Amino acid sequence: MIKLYNSLTRTKDEFITHEPGRCTMYTCGPTVYHFAHIGNLRTYMMEDVLEKALRYLGLDVKRCMNITDVGHLTSDADTGEDKMLKGARREHKTVMQIAEYYTDAFFKDCGKLNIAIPEYVVPATSRIADFIEMIEVLIEKGYAYIAEGNVYFDTSKLDEYYVFNRHEAENLEVGVREGVEEDTAKKNKTDFVLWFTKSKFEDQELKWDSPWGTGYPGWHIECSAISVKTLGEYLDIHCGGIDNAFPHHTNEIAQSEAYLGHKWCPQWFHVLHLNTSSGKMSKSSGEFLTLSLLEEKGYDPLVYRFFCMQSHYRKSLVFSWEGLDGAAAAYGKLVARIAALKPGGTADEEAAAPLRSSFVSALENDLNTSLAVTALYDVLKSGIDDATKLALISEFDSVLSLGLIKAAETARKAAEKKAQTESSAEFTVTCGREGAEPALIEEVKGLLLERAEAKKNRDFAKADEIRSRLTEMGISITDSKNGVSWS
Ligand code: AMP
Ligand code: ZN
Repeated sequence: MIKLYNSLTRTKDEFITHEPGRCTMYTCGPTVYHFAHIGNLRTYMMEDVLEKALRYLGLDVKRCMNITDVGHLTSDADTGEDKMLKGARREHKTVMQIAEYYTDAFFKDCGKLNIAIPEYVVPATSRIADFIEMIEVLIEKGYAYIAEGNVYFDTSKLDEYYVFNRHEAENLEVGVREGVEEDTAKKNKTDFVLWFTKSKFEDQELKWDSPWGTGYPGWHIECSAISVKTLGEYLDIHCGGIDNAFPHHTNEIAQSEAYLGHKWCPQWFHVLHLNTSSGKMSKSSGEFLTLSLLEEKGYDPLVYRFFCMQSHYRKSLVFSWEGLDGAAAAYGKLVARIAALKPGGTADEEAAAPLRSSFVSALENDLNTSLAVTALYDVLKSGIDDATKLALISEFDSVLSLGLIKAAETARKAAEKKAQTESSAEFTVTCGREGAEPALIEEVKGLLLERAEAKKNRDFAKADEIRSRLTEMGISITDSKNGVSWS
Protein backbone atom coordinates (compact mmCIF):
# COMPACT_ATOMS: atom_id res chain seq x y z
CA MET A 1 0.00 0.00 0.00
CA ILE A 2 1.59 3.25 -1.11
CA LYS A 3 0.95 6.42 0.84
CA LEU A 4 1.47 9.75 -0.88
CA TYR A 5 1.11 13.28 0.36
CA ASN A 6 -1.94 14.78 -1.31
CA SER A 7 -1.95 18.56 -1.81
CA LEU A 8 -5.73 18.45 -2.00
CA THR A 9 -6.32 16.95 1.46
CA ARG A 10 -2.98 18.11 2.91
CA THR A 11 -2.39 14.68 4.40
CA LYS A 12 -0.52 11.53 3.49
CA ASP A 13 -3.22 9.40 1.92
CA GLU A 14 -3.34 5.81 0.82
CA PHE A 15 -3.21 5.94 -2.95
CA ILE A 16 -6.33 4.23 -4.27
CA THR A 17 -6.98 4.15 -7.99
CA HIS A 18 -10.36 4.36 -9.68
CA GLU A 19 -9.86 0.93 -11.28
CA PRO A 20 -7.93 -1.55 -9.11
CA GLY A 21 -4.54 -2.39 -10.61
CA ARG A 22 -4.63 0.47 -13.10
CA CYS A 23 -3.45 4.02 -12.75
CA THR A 24 -3.89 7.07 -14.94
CA MET A 25 -1.30 9.77 -14.40
CA TYR A 26 -1.05 13.26 -15.85
CA THR A 27 2.01 15.50 -15.85
CA CYS A 28 2.09 19.19 -16.75
CA GLY A 29 4.75 19.32 -19.43
CA PRO A 30 7.29 21.99 -20.32
CA THR A 31 6.58 25.35 -21.86
CA VAL A 32 8.94 25.02 -24.80
CA TYR A 33 10.21 28.58 -25.19
CA HIS A 34 13.63 28.00 -23.66
CA PHE A 35 15.85 25.23 -22.31
CA ALA A 36 14.56 23.47 -19.22
CA HIS A 37 16.53 24.51 -16.16
CA ILE A 38 17.76 21.95 -13.66
CA GLY A 39 14.89 22.92 -11.33
CA ASN A 40 12.33 21.98 -13.97
CA LEU A 41 14.27 18.78 -14.51
CA ARG A 42 14.11 17.97 -10.79
CA THR A 43 10.33 17.97 -11.08
CA TYR A 44 10.35 15.70 -14.15
CA MET A 45 12.83 13.37 -12.48
CA MET A 46 10.68 12.97 -9.36
CA GLU A 47 7.60 12.37 -11.52
CA ASP A 48 9.58 9.77 -13.45
CA VAL A 49 10.52 8.00 -10.24
CA LEU A 50 6.90 8.15 -9.13
CA GLU A 51 5.73 6.45 -12.33
CA LYS A 52 8.45 3.80 -12.08
CA ALA A 53 7.69 3.20 -8.39
CA LEU A 54 3.96 2.76 -9.10
CA ARG A 55 4.80 0.26 -11.83
CA TYR A 56 7.29 -1.53 -9.56
CA LEU A 57 4.58 -1.77 -6.90
CA GLY A 58 2.32 -3.49 -9.38
CA LEU A 59 0.18 -0.84 -11.04
CA ASP A 60 -0.42 -0.68 -14.76
CA VAL A 61 0.31 3.01 -15.36
CA LYS A 62 -1.00 4.99 -18.31
CA ARG A 63 0.67 8.38 -18.32
CA CYS A 64 0.20 11.51 -20.37
CA MET A 65 2.16 14.77 -20.57
CA ASN A 66 1.35 17.88 -22.57
CA ILE A 67 3.81 20.14 -24.32
CA THR A 68 2.82 23.77 -23.83
CA ASP A 69 3.44 25.45 -27.16
CA VAL A 70 0.67 28.05 -26.96
CA GLY A 71 -1.25 30.14 -24.41
CA HIS A 72 1.11 30.28 -21.39
CA LEU A 73 1.59 33.89 -20.32
CA THR A 74 4.48 35.03 -18.17
CA SER A 75 2.32 35.66 -15.11
CA ASP A 76 0.75 32.14 -15.06
CA ALA A 77 -2.57 34.03 -15.05
CA ASP A 78 -3.93 36.03 -17.96
CA THR A 79 -1.47 38.87 -17.83
CA GLY A 80 2.04 39.43 -19.05
CA GLU A 81 3.65 38.37 -22.28
CA ASP A 82 3.04 35.15 -24.20
CA LYS A 83 6.05 32.97 -23.35
CA MET A 84 6.30 31.37 -26.81
CA LEU A 85 6.22 34.75 -28.55
CA LYS A 86 8.85 35.99 -26.18
CA GLY A 87 11.10 33.06 -27.14
CA ALA A 88 10.47 33.58 -30.85
CA ARG A 89 11.32 37.27 -30.61
CA ARG A 90 14.46 36.59 -28.60
CA GLU A 91 15.78 34.24 -31.27
CA HIS A 92 14.28 35.80 -34.41
CA LYS A 93 12.46 32.57 -35.24
CA THR A 94 8.84 31.51 -35.66
CA VAL A 95 6.92 30.15 -32.67
CA MET A 96 6.78 26.68 -34.24
CA GLN A 97 10.54 26.66 -34.84
CA ILE A 98 11.08 27.60 -31.21
CA ALA A 99 8.63 24.91 -30.06
CA GLU A 100 10.33 22.22 -32.13
CA TYR A 101 13.83 23.18 -31.06
CA TYR A 102 13.11 23.31 -27.33
CA THR A 103 10.89 20.23 -27.32
CA ASP A 104 13.78 18.35 -28.84
CA ALA A 105 16.24 19.85 -26.33
CA PHE A 106 13.91 18.86 -23.47
CA PHE A 107 13.78 15.23 -24.57
CA LYS A 108 17.55 15.13 -24.99
CA ASP A 109 17.91 16.30 -21.37
CA CYS A 110 15.39 13.68 -20.28
CA GLY A 111 17.40 10.98 -22.08
CA LYS A 112 20.60 11.98 -20.30
CA LEU A 113 18.84 11.89 -16.93
CA ASN A 114 17.19 8.50 -17.59
CA ILE A 115 13.75 10.13 -17.47
CA ALA A 116 11.40 7.86 -19.42
CA ILE A 117 9.15 9.57 -21.94
CA PRO A 118 5.48 9.17 -20.92
CA GLU A 119 3.35 6.91 -23.10
CA TYR A 120 1.37 9.90 -24.42
CA VAL A 121 3.06 13.22 -25.19
CA VAL A 122 0.62 15.78 -26.55
CA PRO A 123 1.51 19.24 -27.89
CA ALA A 124 -1.26 21.71 -27.07
CA THR A 125 -1.42 22.93 -30.67
CA SER A 126 -2.43 19.41 -31.79
CA ARG A 127 -5.68 19.41 -29.75
CA ILE A 128 -7.34 22.75 -30.50
CA ALA A 129 -10.61 21.06 -31.53
CA ASP A 130 -10.81 19.35 -28.12
CA PHE A 131 -10.30 22.66 -26.30
CA ILE A 132 -13.06 24.28 -28.36
CA GLU A 133 -15.44 21.39 -27.62
CA MET A 134 -14.76 21.64 -23.90
CA ILE A 135 -15.26 25.42 -23.86
CA GLU A 136 -18.55 25.03 -25.76
CA VAL A 137 -19.82 22.64 -23.09
CA LEU A 138 -18.70 25.01 -20.31
CA ILE A 139 -20.62 27.88 -21.95
CA GLU A 140 -23.67 25.65 -22.42
CA LYS A 141 -23.62 24.61 -18.76
CA GLY A 142 -23.34 28.23 -17.67
CA TYR A 143 -19.78 28.02 -16.33
CA ALA A 144 -18.28 30.35 -18.92
CA TYR A 145 -19.11 33.75 -20.41
CA ILE A 146 -17.93 35.98 -23.21
CA ALA A 147 -16.66 39.46 -22.36
CA GLU A 148 -14.89 41.94 -24.58
CA GLY A 149 -14.24 39.19 -27.12
CA ASN A 150 -12.60 36.65 -24.78
CA VAL A 151 -14.21 33.58 -23.19
CA TYR A 152 -13.83 33.42 -19.39
CA PHE A 153 -14.47 30.74 -16.81
CA ASP A 154 -16.87 32.03 -14.15
CA THR A 155 -15.41 30.91 -10.82
CA SER A 156 -18.43 32.24 -8.88
CA LYS A 157 -20.49 29.34 -10.29
CA LEU A 158 -18.49 26.80 -8.29
CA ASP A 159 -19.23 25.59 -4.77
CA GLU A 160 -15.54 25.44 -4.04
CA TYR A 161 -12.67 27.11 -5.83
CA TYR A 162 -9.74 27.78 -3.51
CA VAL A 163 -8.70 24.16 -3.30
CA PHE A 164 -4.93 24.47 -3.05
CA ASN A 165 -4.67 27.59 -0.96
CA ARG A 166 -7.66 27.89 1.29
CA HIS A 167 -5.63 30.00 3.69
CA GLU A 168 -3.92 32.24 1.22
CA ALA A 169 -6.68 34.31 -0.33
CA GLU A 170 -4.33 37.20 -1.03
CA ASN A 171 -2.43 34.97 -3.46
CA LEU A 172 -5.47 34.85 -5.71
CA GLU A 173 -4.76 38.26 -7.05
CA VAL A 174 -1.96 37.10 -9.28
CA GLY A 175 -2.06 40.00 -11.68
CA VAL A 176 -2.12 42.58 -8.91
CA ARG A 177 0.65 40.84 -6.98
CA GLU A 178 2.97 40.89 -9.97
CA GLY A 179 2.28 44.51 -10.65
CA VAL A 180 0.67 43.73 -13.98
CA GLU A 181 -2.42 45.48 -15.22
CA GLU A 182 -5.66 43.69 -14.19
CA ASP A 183 -8.12 42.40 -16.79
CA THR A 184 -11.26 44.52 -16.34
CA ALA A 185 -13.46 42.23 -18.46
CA LYS A 186 -13.46 39.57 -15.72
CA LYS A 187 -16.57 39.37 -13.51
CA ASN A 188 -14.59 37.97 -10.59
CA LYS A 189 -10.93 38.47 -9.91
CA THR A 190 -10.31 34.70 -9.96
CA ASP A 191 -12.00 34.17 -13.36
CA PHE A 192 -9.61 33.09 -16.09
CA VAL A 193 -9.44 33.04 -19.86
CA LEU A 194 -10.47 29.92 -21.75
CA TRP A 195 -10.14 31.42 -25.22
CA PHE A 196 -8.54 34.69 -26.34
CA THR A 197 -9.90 36.47 -29.38
CA LYS A 198 -9.22 39.97 -28.25
CA SER A 199 -5.61 40.08 -27.36
CA LYS A 200 -3.05 42.72 -26.76
CA PHE A 201 -0.66 40.48 -28.68
CA GLU A 202 -1.51 41.77 -32.12
CA ASP A 203 1.36 39.79 -33.58
CA GLN A 204 0.19 36.48 -32.06
CA GLU A 205 1.45 34.04 -34.69
CA LEU A 206 -0.73 31.02 -34.01
CA LYS A 207 -4.48 31.57 -34.30
CA TRP A 208 -7.39 29.25 -34.97
CA ASP A 209 -11.02 29.71 -35.97
CA SER A 210 -13.52 29.15 -33.19
CA PRO A 211 -17.24 29.82 -32.57
CA TRP A 212 -16.08 33.00 -30.76
CA GLY A 213 -13.80 34.30 -33.49
CA THR A 214 -10.23 33.71 -34.53
CA GLY A 215 -7.96 33.34 -31.52
CA TYR A 216 -6.07 30.94 -29.31
CA PRO A 217 -6.63 28.93 -26.12
CA GLY A 218 -5.75 29.88 -22.56
CA TRP A 219 -3.10 27.79 -20.82
CA HIS A 220 -5.23 25.99 -18.22
CA ILE A 221 -7.79 24.51 -20.64
CA GLU A 222 -5.09 22.55 -22.44
CA CYS A 223 -4.25 20.29 -19.49
CA SER A 224 -7.90 19.62 -18.62
CA ALA A 225 -8.84 18.77 -22.19
CA ILE A 226 -5.73 16.74 -22.98
CA SER A 227 -6.07 14.76 -19.76
CA VAL A 228 -9.79 14.03 -20.09
CA LYS A 229 -9.56 13.13 -23.79
CA THR A 230 -6.45 10.96 -23.41
CA LEU A 231 -6.85 9.34 -19.99
CA GLY A 232 -10.61 9.41 -19.49
CA GLU A 233 -13.10 11.00 -17.08
CA TYR A 234 -11.41 9.77 -13.91
CA LEU A 235 -7.79 10.69 -13.40
CA ASP A 236 -5.93 8.92 -10.59
CA ILE A 237 -3.00 11.24 -10.03
CA HIS A 238 -1.96 14.65 -11.33
CA CYS A 239 1.61 15.97 -11.00
CA GLY A 240 3.54 19.19 -11.39
CA GLY A 241 5.92 21.58 -9.70
CA ILE A 242 4.56 23.39 -6.64
CA ASP A 243 4.19 26.68 -8.56
CA ASN A 244 1.59 24.92 -10.74
CA ALA A 245 -0.74 24.38 -7.77
CA PHE A 246 -2.17 27.85 -8.08
CA PRO A 247 -3.60 29.12 -10.32
CA HIS A 248 -2.98 26.39 -12.91
CA HIS A 249 -4.13 23.26 -11.08
CA THR A 250 -6.89 25.06 -9.23
CA ASN A 251 -8.23 26.16 -12.62
CA GLU A 252 -7.80 22.71 -14.13
CA ILE A 253 -9.99 21.24 -11.39
CA ALA A 254 -12.60 23.97 -11.87
CA GLN A 255 -12.87 23.37 -15.62
CA SER A 256 -12.67 19.59 -15.58
CA GLU A 257 -15.26 19.08 -12.86
CA ALA A 258 -17.61 21.67 -14.37
CA TYR A 259 -17.29 19.94 -17.74
CA LEU A 260 -17.61 16.36 -16.44
CA GLY A 261 -20.22 17.03 -13.77
CA HIS A 262 -18.37 14.91 -11.20
CA LYS A 263 -15.13 14.77 -9.19
CA TRP A 264 -12.15 14.38 -11.46
CA CYS A 265 -8.80 13.74 -9.77
CA PRO A 266 -8.46 12.86 -6.06
CA GLN A 267 -4.65 12.79 -5.76
CA TRP A 268 -2.29 15.77 -6.40
CA PHE A 269 1.47 15.35 -6.34
CA HIS A 270 3.56 18.51 -6.20
CA VAL A 271 7.35 18.69 -6.29
CA LEU A 272 8.98 21.46 -4.28
CA HIS A 273 11.43 23.77 -5.98
CA LEU A 274 15.13 23.59 -6.54
CA ASN A 275 16.64 26.90 -5.50
CA THR A 276 20.11 28.36 -5.54
CA SER A 277 21.57 30.10 -2.51
CA SER A 278 20.53 33.38 -4.14
CA GLY A 279 16.91 32.25 -4.48
CA LYS A 280 14.51 30.75 -6.99
CA MET A 281 15.77 29.74 -10.40
CA SER A 282 13.81 31.47 -13.10
CA LYS A 283 13.70 31.10 -16.86
CA SER A 284 12.03 34.44 -17.35
CA SER A 285 14.89 36.28 -15.62
CA GLY A 286 17.32 34.46 -17.93
CA GLU A 287 19.40 33.33 -14.95
CA PHE A 288 19.27 29.60 -14.72
CA LEU A 289 21.39 26.49 -14.77
CA THR A 290 20.98 23.97 -17.55
CA LEU A 291 22.01 20.35 -17.77
CA SER A 292 24.40 21.25 -20.61
CA LEU A 293 26.20 23.65 -18.29
CA LEU A 294 26.65 20.87 -15.73
CA GLU A 295 28.05 18.65 -18.48
CA GLU A 296 30.39 21.39 -19.68
CA LYS A 297 31.74 21.58 -16.17
CA GLY A 298 32.44 17.86 -16.31
CA TYR A 299 29.52 16.42 -14.32
CA ASP A 300 27.77 13.26 -15.45
CA PRO A 301 24.01 14.07 -15.67
CA LEU A 302 23.34 10.98 -13.55
CA VAL A 303 25.32 12.58 -10.73
CA TYR A 304 22.67 15.31 -10.76
CA ARG A 305 19.99 12.62 -10.64
CA PHE A 306 21.78 11.06 -7.67
CA PHE A 307 21.93 14.50 -6.00
CA CYS A 308 18.16 14.86 -6.40
CA MET A 309 17.30 11.31 -5.31
CA GLN A 310 19.03 11.87 -2.01
CA SER A 311 16.45 14.42 -0.96
CA HIS A 312 12.70 14.18 -0.60
CA TYR A 313 10.50 15.64 -3.35
CA ARG A 314 8.42 17.51 -0.78
CA LYS A 315 11.36 19.53 0.50
CA SER A 316 12.89 22.50 -1.28
CA LEU A 317 16.37 21.61 -2.42
CA VAL A 318 19.23 24.09 -2.51
CA PHE A 319 21.63 23.57 -5.36
CA SER A 320 25.34 24.25 -4.83
CA TRP A 321 28.46 23.17 -6.69
CA GLU A 322 29.85 21.80 -3.40
CA GLY A 323 26.71 19.72 -3.01
CA LEU A 324 27.09 18.40 -6.54
CA ASP A 325 30.78 17.60 -5.93
CA GLY A 326 29.74 15.62 -2.87
CA ALA A 327 27.20 13.70 -4.97
CA ALA A 328 29.83 13.06 -7.67
CA ALA A 329 32.28 11.60 -5.16
CA ALA A 330 29.61 9.43 -3.52
CA TYR A 331 28.31 8.25 -6.91
CA GLY A 332 31.85 7.31 -8.02
CA LYS A 333 32.41 5.30 -4.83
CA LEU A 334 29.06 3.58 -5.15
CA VAL A 335 29.80 2.57 -8.73
CA ALA A 336 33.27 1.29 -7.73
CA ARG A 337 31.74 -0.87 -4.98
CA ILE A 338 29.27 -2.36 -7.45
CA ALA A 339 32.05 -2.89 -10.00
CA ALA A 340 33.96 -4.92 -7.40
CA LEU A 341 31.10 -7.45 -7.11
CA LYS A 342 31.62 -10.71 -8.98
CA PRO A 343 29.09 -11.05 -11.82
CA GLY A 344 27.33 -14.36 -12.60
CA GLY A 345 25.56 -16.95 -10.45
CA THR A 346 21.97 -17.05 -9.25
CA ALA A 347 20.32 -14.82 -6.69
CA ASP A 348 19.25 -16.17 -3.32
CA GLU A 349 15.60 -15.16 -3.08
CA GLU A 350 15.32 -15.84 0.64
CA ALA A 351 18.27 -13.60 1.43
CA ALA A 352 16.97 -10.90 -0.90
CA ALA A 353 13.48 -10.63 0.65
CA PRO A 354 14.20 -8.49 3.78
CA LEU A 355 16.43 -6.11 1.83
CA ARG A 356 13.79 -5.71 -0.84
CA SER A 357 11.18 -5.04 1.77
CA SER A 358 13.11 -1.99 3.11
CA PHE A 359 13.26 -0.61 -0.42
CA VAL A 360 9.53 -1.16 -0.92
CA SER A 361 8.75 0.50 2.44
CA ALA A 362 10.81 3.54 1.43
CA LEU A 363 8.83 3.93 -1.80
CA GLU A 364 5.52 3.33 -0.06
CA ASN A 365 6.34 5.99 2.49
CA ASP A 366 5.50 9.01 0.33
CA LEU A 367 8.14 8.13 -2.27
CA ASN A 368 11.08 8.50 0.07
CA THR A 369 13.88 8.22 -2.49
CA SER A 370 16.55 9.08 0.01
CA LEU A 371 15.60 6.04 2.13
CA ALA A 372 15.41 4.02 -1.07
CA VAL A 373 19.05 4.96 -1.79
CA THR A 374 19.92 3.93 1.80
CA ALA A 375 18.26 0.56 1.12
CA LEU A 376 20.60 0.20 -1.84
CA TYR A 377 23.65 0.88 0.35
CA ASP A 378 22.30 -1.67 2.85
CA VAL A 379 22.43 -4.30 0.11
CA LEU A 380 26.12 -3.59 -0.43
CA LYS A 381 26.83 -3.68 3.31
CA SER A 382 24.93 -6.93 3.87
CA GLY A 383 26.56 -10.34 4.05
CA ILE A 384 24.66 -11.85 1.11
CA ASP A 385 26.49 -13.19 -1.95
CA ASP A 386 27.49 -11.03 -4.92
CA ALA A 387 24.92 -12.52 -7.30
CA THR A 388 22.06 -11.58 -4.96
CA LYS A 389 23.53 -8.13 -4.36
CA LEU A 390 23.78 -7.48 -8.10
CA ALA A 391 20.25 -8.74 -8.73
CA LEU A 392 18.82 -6.45 -6.02
CA ILE A 393 20.80 -3.41 -7.12
CA SER A 394 19.63 -3.91 -10.69
CA GLU A 395 16.04 -4.26 -9.47
CA PHE A 396 16.17 -1.11 -7.28
CA ASP A 397 17.81 0.81 -10.06
CA SER A 398 14.94 0.00 -12.41
CA VAL A 399 13.11 2.55 -10.23
CA LEU A 400 15.87 4.98 -9.24
CA SER A 401 17.41 4.92 -12.74
CA LEU A 402 20.90 5.95 -11.67
CA GLY A 403 22.51 3.83 -14.40
CA LEU A 404 24.49 1.95 -11.72
CA ILE A 405 24.85 -1.44 -13.40
CA LYS A 406 25.95 0.11 -16.68
CA ALA A 407 28.41 2.48 -14.99
CA ALA A 408 29.82 -0.39 -12.91
CA GLU A 409 30.27 -2.50 -16.03
CA THR A 410 32.08 0.35 -17.77
CA ALA A 411 34.31 0.79 -14.69
CA ARG A 412 35.00 -2.94 -14.51
CA LYS A 413 35.90 -3.15 -18.20
CA ALA A 414 38.19 -0.12 -17.91
CA ALA A 415 39.97 -1.67 -14.91
CA GLU A 416 40.38 -5.00 -16.72
CA LYS A 417 41.78 -3.25 -19.78
CA LYS A 418 44.26 -1.32 -17.65
CA ALA A 419 45.42 -4.47 -15.88
CA GLN A 420 45.80 -6.23 -19.22
CA THR A 421 47.89 -3.41 -20.70
CA GLU A 422 50.09 -3.37 -17.64
CA SER A 423 50.67 -7.10 -17.53
CA SER A 424 51.19 -7.39 -21.29
CA ALA A 425 53.81 -4.64 -21.31
CA GLU A 426 57.16 -6.40 -21.57
CA PHE A 427 59.42 -6.37 -18.55
CA THR A 428 62.79 -5.02 -19.63
CA VAL A 429 66.16 -5.39 -18.01
CA THR A 430 68.68 -2.82 -19.19
CA CYS A 431 72.38 -2.87 -18.47
CA GLY A 432 73.74 0.62 -17.88
CA ARG A 433 77.39 -0.38 -17.84
CA GLU A 434 79.30 -0.32 -21.07
CA GLY A 435 81.49 -3.32 -21.88
CA ALA A 436 80.03 -5.64 -19.24
CA GLU A 437 80.80 -9.32 -19.76
CA PRO A 438 77.98 -11.27 -21.48
CA ALA A 439 78.03 -13.91 -18.72
CA LEU A 440 77.54 -11.23 -16.04
CA ILE A 441 74.73 -9.62 -18.08
CA GLU A 442 72.96 -12.99 -18.28
CA GLU A 443 73.43 -13.72 -14.57
CA VAL A 444 72.13 -10.32 -13.45
CA LYS A 445 69.21 -10.49 -15.88
CA GLY A 446 68.24 -13.89 -14.49
CA LEU A 447 68.31 -12.55 -10.92
CA LEU A 448 66.32 -9.44 -11.81
CA LEU A 449 63.62 -11.46 -13.58
CA GLU A 450 63.41 -13.74 -10.57
CA ARG A 451 63.07 -10.67 -8.33
CA ALA A 452 60.31 -9.26 -10.55
CA GLU A 453 58.40 -12.55 -10.38
CA ALA A 454 58.74 -12.57 -6.56
CA LYS A 455 57.37 -9.02 -6.35
CA LYS A 456 54.45 -9.97 -8.60
CA ASN A 457 53.65 -12.84 -6.22
CA ARG A 458 53.97 -10.42 -3.29
CA ASP A 459 56.93 -12.47 -1.96
CA PHE A 460 58.78 -9.38 -0.79
CA ALA A 461 61.20 -11.27 1.44
CA LYS A 462 62.55 -13.10 -1.57
CA ALA A 463 62.71 -9.88 -3.62
CA ASP A 464 64.73 -8.21 -0.85
CA GLU A 465 67.05 -11.16 -0.59
CA ILE A 466 67.85 -10.96 -4.32
CA ARG A 467 68.42 -7.22 -4.07
CA SER A 468 70.92 -7.79 -1.19
CA ARG A 469 72.75 -10.39 -3.26
CA LEU A 470 73.08 -7.94 -6.13
CA THR A 471 74.33 -5.23 -3.78
CA GLU A 472 76.95 -7.63 -2.48
CA MET A 473 78.00 -8.18 -6.10
CA GLY A 474 78.48 -4.39 -6.34
CA ILE A 475 75.48 -3.91 -8.59
CA SER A 476 73.06 -1.06 -8.14
CA ILE A 477 69.53 -1.23 -9.59
CA THR A 478 66.88 1.33 -10.53
CA ASP A 479 63.25 0.24 -10.92
CA SER A 480 61.09 1.84 -13.60
CA LYS A 481 57.41 1.37 -14.60
CA ASN A 482 57.98 -1.59 -16.92
CA GLY A 483 61.40 -2.84 -15.99
CA VAL A 484 64.65 -2.31 -14.21
CA SER A 485 68.10 -0.99 -15.19
CA TRP A 486 71.38 -1.88 -13.48
CA SER A 487 74.98 -0.84 -13.45
P1 AMP B 1 7.48 25.34 -17.21
O1 AMP B 1 8.28 24.81 -18.37
O2 AMP B 1 7.91 26.68 -16.79
O3 AMP B 1 6.01 25.25 -17.48
O4 AMP B 1 7.81 24.42 -15.95
C1 AMP B 1 7.98 23.04 -16.06
C2 AMP B 1 7.84 22.35 -14.73
O5 AMP B 1 8.89 22.74 -13.83
C3 AMP B 1 6.56 22.68 -14.00
O6 AMP B 1 6.05 21.49 -13.43
C4 AMP B 1 6.97 23.66 -12.93
O7 AMP B 1 6.11 23.62 -11.84
C5 AMP B 1 8.34 23.14 -12.57
N1 AMP B 1 9.27 24.12 -11.98
C6 AMP B 1 9.42 25.43 -12.27
N2 AMP B 1 10.42 26.00 -11.55
C7 AMP B 1 10.95 25.01 -10.78
C8 AMP B 1 12.02 24.93 -9.82
N3 AMP B 1 12.78 25.98 -9.52
N4 AMP B 1 12.26 23.74 -9.22
C9 AMP B 1 11.51 22.64 -9.53
N5 AMP B 1 10.50 22.65 -10.43
C10 AMP B 1 10.21 23.80 -11.05
ZN1 ZN C 1 -0.90 21.69 -16.74
